[in-house]
Amino acid sequence: RVIAEGDLGIVEKTCATDLQTKADRLAQMSICSSLARKFPKLTIIGEEDLPFEEVDQELIEDGQWEEILQQPCPTQYSAIKEEDLVVWVDPLDGTKEYTEGLLDNVTVLIGIAYEGKAIAGVINQPYYNYQAGPDATLGRTIWGVLGLGAFGFQLKEAPAGKHIITTTRSHSNKLVTDCVTAMNPDDVLRVGGAGNKIIQLIEGKASAYVFASPGCKKWDTCAPEVILHAVGGKLTDIHGNALQYNKEVKHMNSAGVLATLRDYDYYASRVPQSVKNALVP
Ligand code: AMP
Ligand code: MG
Ligand code: MG
Repeated sequence: RVIAEGDLGIVEKTCATDLQTKADRLAQMSICSSLARKFPKLTIIGEEDLPFEEVDQELIEDGQWEEILQQPCPTQYSAIKEEDLVVWVDPLDGTKEYTEGLLDNVTVLIGIAYEGKAIAGVINQPYYNYQAGPDATLGRTIWGVLGLGAFGFQLKEAPAGKHIITTTRSHSNKLVTDCVTAMNPDDVLRVGGAGNKIIQLIEGKASAYVFASPGCKKWDTCAPEVILHAVGGKLTDIHGNALQYNKEVKHMNSAGVLATLRDYDYYASRVPQSVKNALVP
């Protein structure tokens, strides 16, 4: 609807590549208010800094997905209390690309953390299939829980023996390119969105997501890392440290992101020492 109205309402946050649109604002209001109404004891952290205001009833979602609720809750999570969960919300990941019409780069990310660890997540890709013609179903939802699995896509491995690196399209710098080059890449894909890049890993389009720079935040990685971990992959900072998601943690992933479905050790071993020295966790 925001696109159809013809005015994205773009606001520059810290700089010209750090944007917020009306779609980011509305999606965050919808997701965070709907969750807070249904689960008032949750800690919900959304990317956008919004003024407090009554949310339009039209934005409130109170339905539930029965298919998901039919799944058994992994026993290690069955006693968790609502107040012990932290929900990280990126209402629109890939905003820069959204403003440029690269709509398949866009995802909506909702990650759930317990005791600092990401344990469940949703990646919604609202424009999936948007160029596939009128018969294709528009949009999809990928979700996962550690110990249960990940659903809503077909797991595929990247071509064996090839190093296909996916990295940022609009937030690159020398550290990022130095690190990508050190991976000895057969191909480099520059696309927007953290959610989008994790989808490339689980669908066999890329073998590693390499981002050796600060810039990416907890709401960018929480949901995607769960989906990747649920199918046996690994996401860490560039030093190999696990990311923490407790509510007090600083939002910035200062030491970058390294993620793979397979062969994590190969990529981790090729991160240059100079890159590591420049990125303090
Ligand atoms: P990208 O791969 O460039 O799409 O980045 C993945 C996520 O991290 C997106 O949500 C970006 O907005 C965010 N991000 C990465 N680098 C920066 C940066 N330098 N400034 C602001 N946001 C960034
Ligand atoms: Mg984002
Ligand atoms: Mg965002």
